[in-house]
Amino acid sequence: MKSPSSAKRSTAASTLHKDDLIVVAGAGGFIGGALVRRFHEQGFTRIRAVDKKPLPRWYQRTREAENLCLDLSDEANCKKAVEGAAEVYNLAADMGGMGFIERFRVECLRSVLINTHLIEHAWRAGAQRFFFSSSACAYNTKLQEDTRSRALKESDAYPAFAERGYGWEKLLSEMFCQEYWAERKFKTAIARFHNVYGPWGTWDGGREKAPAAICRKVIEAKHSGKPEIEIWGDGSQTRSFMYIDDCLDGIDWIMHREALIATPINLGSSELISINGLVDLAEEIGGVKLKRKYKLDAPRGVAGRNSDNTFIKKMLGWEPSTPFRKGLATTYRWIEEQYLGRKAGKATVSDAF
Ligand code: NAD
Repeated sequence: MKSPSSAKRSTAASTLHKDDLIVVAGAGGFIGGALVRRFHEQGFTRIRAVDKKPLPRWYQRTREAENLCLDLSDEANCKKAVEGAAEVYNLAADMGGMGFIERFRVECLRSVLINTHLIEHAWRAGAQRFFFSSSACAYNTKLQEDTRSRALKESDAYPAFAERGYGWEKLLSEMFCQEYWAERKFKTAIARFHNVYGPWGTWDGGREKAPAAICRKVIEAKHSGKPEIEIWGDGSQTRSFMYIDDCLDGIDWIMHREALIATPINLGSSELISINGLVDLAEEIGGVKLKRKYKLDAPRGVAGRNSDNTFIKKMLGWEPSTPFRKGLATTYRWIEEQYLGRKAGKATVSDAF
């Protein structure tokens, strides 16, 4: 199949009317909040943003959206949330970095309730399309036992041996999306995100992921004058990290590509880096050099994980490509502002928890 040129990529802006209702679940979180802002900036006039957190604790709030505080694991709330929707984006999940998903497996599994009720009511409400945010944690963990493991391609989810709790929830919810299309002809889109980072994400408090955690630790060390950093594991673990703007572009294009209906696809960067390499970069950005202390009994996740982008390049003629060094520098500066703001007594994103 020929790659579509960028001119042929469909988007919400090219397929919907500006007053069609877009619903974003998990809008109080990192990616959902950024997506609501993006749709607003594109001129959509009816955006319903939903999250279970009370409004003052949302990371980003777009005032012009209809912002609702609803627990979407409750079926009646899902019905309310999607009433009149043209498109529904499910970014809601109880999640965090390795420290969270290894420790709170029940909470992670319970997110299955959100997608189960949301997709049913989106379908009943006559929505045109439904997006599900899956994860690279859905992949078979046996394929990720080496720091030099080959990049994961879409077929590597089965035979299934997903991350306990979180990964299995993603696999089951993916299957719901596939069956709503197979049986009921409801158009669903499924993107398997690989670590997303950027400004307006969690940077403290236990749910933060590696890029934010490492930036914060470097910033703390720099401003406290204690030149040490604690690293989870031995630092050899490898990952790829996708900048938030790439994630938002990918969501829009995947959602509106007919050939991708009900088809899980990687949405991640293929620029591999070790955790030690990430610390090197953060030190360079912060202009410091720190003594490394390795906490070998801390959660470290799989040994190596990267995104094989063959399929997305074929389907969209594109892959996430913001250089990690560039995205991390922007993120570092934003976290430093938050850190210094908090020291000066201002409320920050992580105080939301
Ligand atoms: P996040 O934690 O910042 O946002 C998730 C939001 O969902 C939170 O604000 C939370 O309050 C909300 N939520 C949880 N349970 C809810 C419920 N019952 N009802 C309503 N809202 C509820 O996470 P994020 O980084 O924005 O991730 C968004 C989605 O992308 C999630 O599905 C996540 O699993 C997936 N994902 C994220 C990454 C990443 O690196 N950030 C990687 C892979 C997959």
